[in-house]
Amino acid sequence: MIVAGNWKMYLGPDPRLLAERLDGIDGVDAIICPPYTRVAECVDAGLTTFAQNVHWEPEGPYTGEISAEMLTVAGVRGSLVGHSERRLYFGESDLTVARRAHAALAAGLGVIACVGETEEQRDSGDMELVLSVQVAAIREECGEADRLVLAYEPVWAIGTGKTATPELAQEAHAFIKSLLDRPVLYGGSVKPENTAELMAQPDVDGALVGGASLEVESFVAICEAAARSHS
Ligand code: PEP
Repeated sequence: MIVAGNWKMYLGPDPRLLAERLDGIDGVDAIICPPYTRVAECVDAGLTTFAQNVHWEPEGPYTGEISAEMLTVAGVRGSLVGHSERRLYFGESDLTVARRAHAALAAGLGVIACVGETEEQRDSGDMELVLSVQVAAIREECGEADRLVLAYEPVWAIGTGKTATPELAQEAHAFIKSLLDRPVLYGGSVKPENTAELMAQPDVDGALVGGASLEVESFVAICEAAARSHS
C-alpha cells in the first residue's frame, strides 16, 4: 500500500509533526509531494519526499524546470508526472509525461505517473480509449520498470468531492493493469471516510491524495485506514 500526498501549490502542514504522526503506521509507504520550497524540510524530517514534476534533461535552458539529478542531490526519492493539472494548465502531453517518467527512472528515482479521463470523455464512452493512449505512451518509454507506479485519477473526481465508486475504480484499475502491469494508486477526493472501501478493491494499490493531505490528521487517518484495509 502506497499513500502519496500531493500538496500542490500549498504550503502544507509541518513536516516534522507529520513525520512524527506517520511513524509507527505499519503496512503503508507514505510519500509526500510538497512544493519545492518545502522539499528540504520534508527530507530533513525523514519523510519520503517526491517532487511534483521533473524534466527529461539533466540540465539546460529550461526556465522553471528541475531535473532528476537535481532532485536526487536534494534527497528527493521520486516524482509525480502527468498530473491532470499539469496536462490541463501547462500543456503537458502524453509524450512529455512519458519522457519525464523515463528520465526520472533512468536517474534512479521513483515515479508516480498519473492518468485519467475527463467527465466529457467518460460520458462519451471514451474512458478506455483515453486510458489506453495515456498508458501506451508511458509503457513505450518506460516498460514495466520497477520503480514505476501509476495513479488513476479521473479528472472529474479531483478536488470536486465526487469520488469514483469502489466498483468503478476497480474496473479502471484492472483495465490499466491489463495495459501495464504495475501498481495503480487511486486519486480523486480520497478522504478518511472513503479510504477503506476504495483500498479494499483488489487492484487498488494505494491512494494519491490532494486536499486531504494538507491536514496532518486527515492524511494520517487515510494512511491508517489504508493500512487496516490490507492487514
Ligand atoms: C490530486 O491532486 O492528485 C488529487 C487527487 O486531489 P484531491 O484528493 O483533492 O481530489
